[in-house]
Amino acid sequence: MDRLTTSILGIQFNNFSRKEIMGILRSRIHEKKKTFIVTANPEICLHASLNPDYKEAISTADYIMPDGIGVVLVSKFLKVPLKERVPGFDLMLDLLELADKKQLKIYLLGAKKKSIEKAIDFIRNEYPSLIVSGYHHGYINDEDQKTILKDACEKQPDLIFVAKGYPKQEMWISNNLKYFQYGIFIGVGGSVDVLAGEVKRAPDVWQNLNLEWFYRLIKQPTRWRRTLKIFTFIGKVFFEKRKDKKRLKNLVVMGEEEQINKQVKAG
Ligand code: UDP
Repeated sequence: MDRLTTSILGIQFNNFSRKEIMGILRSRIHEKKKTFIVTANPEICLHASLNPDYKEAISTADYIMPDGIGVVLVSKFLKVPLKERVPGFDLMLDLLELADKKQLKIYLLGAKKKSIEKAIDFIRNEYPSLIVSGYHHGYINDEDQKTILKDACEKQPDLIFVAKGYPKQEMWISNNLKYFQYGIFIGVGGSVDVLAGEVKRAPDVWQNLNLEWFYRLIKQPTRWRRTLKIFTFIGKVFFEKRKDKKRLKNLVVMGEEEQINKQVKAG
């Protein structure tokens, strides 16, 4: 039987395929159950392992899915394999398709003004039956934040996509979820830029070879520091695993010593 969750650097990943999680989300939308979903890539895991507030925020999510081959690979190394990677962008596409079929209301928050406007045009063309109940770019001051939040709450969207990049998007969701009655909330990083055509997603061949990260590095070399974090993440998981093994060994040794002492005492 499949394991239901896999813990990586203290983050509890749900072991669902893309199809399975979409099935769950479909039901939750139907039942109007408020749902926070995080698609965590290695950068997010690393950031959470170093920032307790962020870790706390993402641990309030209803579902955490692995976004990135790095996460799936380490799950195999830890012998608690996750079924497949479920990128935020793919989930966004599935949700948009569902919204189109069921005429759901969506709300988008994040990205630059030009990007969000182009993405909204694209969405309206591609998914004509869904309802865009509102949107706003992601560069806002505190005062505007309040107005946008009020607007989003009043519109009562079924799906809220927050495209402000980590950690901002998950912090926004975790802080503001309580003001909404229902809705699926998901942080989608740079997905709006992709829908807008401002950033190109890796072609399928690269994705199938699990080299999407490398493609992004080639296309946006300034991201090299971020790419490096994938390897830091993998290193950290290896290191933690070794530490755990040592701890376990010490416990076994301590346990054995206790047994021996007991036997000596008993004569
Ligand atoms: N962004 C935003 N507000 C901010 C900072 C970033 O809306 O204060 C947007 C940014 O314009 C971009 C997205 O957040 O569209 C982050 O994209 P990135 O490529 O970093 O995300 P990734 O998919 O790599 O996590």
